[in-house]
Amino acid sequence: MTRTGFYPGSFDPVTYGHLDIIARAARIVDKLVLGVGVHHGKQALIPAATRIALLEQVTRPIAGHTGLRIAVTTFDGLAVDAARKSHAGVIIRGLRDATDFDYEVQMGQMNAAMAPDIETVFLAASPATRMIASSLVKQIARMGGDIAPFIPKEAREAMAGALKPAH
Ligand code: ADP
Repeated sequence: MTRTGFYPGSFDPVTYGHLDIIARAARIVDKLVLGVGVHHGKQALIPAATRIALLEQVTRPIAGHTGLRIAVTTFDGLAVDAARKSHAGVIIRGLRDATDFDYEVQMGQMNAAMAPDIETVFLAASPATRMIASSLVKQIARMGGDIAPFIPKEAREAMAGALKPAH
């Protein structure tokens, strides 16, 4: 039986923190569907199509190393509905700190009330990538800082394109 997981997020941009969670999810599931959230009213820096292409590209080595099957999709509704659509029995989420814990556990419990057949599995962030947040990466990039320690080269290039002033 194939065990499938669903890992929802904005991935705007994908960071080494996300990649750490994806690589470690390979120990839990055989297949992982990455759900790129494209909710109305939530303005992303990087277009959804680019975020999908980036995720496909930067997760390829993980699939190669671990044997994890990775698929990428978008969703604009409830994560539990998107997880069901992907035939996922578990939702994977990462926990960086107490703020993540409070929010994620509450959301996990509300998701469990809506979909008791889907289990949320929380992975504690690894020490080396725990501090990385997409929102801070964007702020640093806008101020001209070096974001190389936080996101892969392909994502840096996409960020540079997205931040280029339009003429
Ligand atoms: P959202 O917009 O839902 O917060 P993100 O793309 O920021 O989406 O994050 C998706 C998931 O990845 C969340 O569970 C978040 O806690 C987790 N995550 C983000 N950054 C890291 C990190 N550096 N280490 C571990 N987990 C992380």
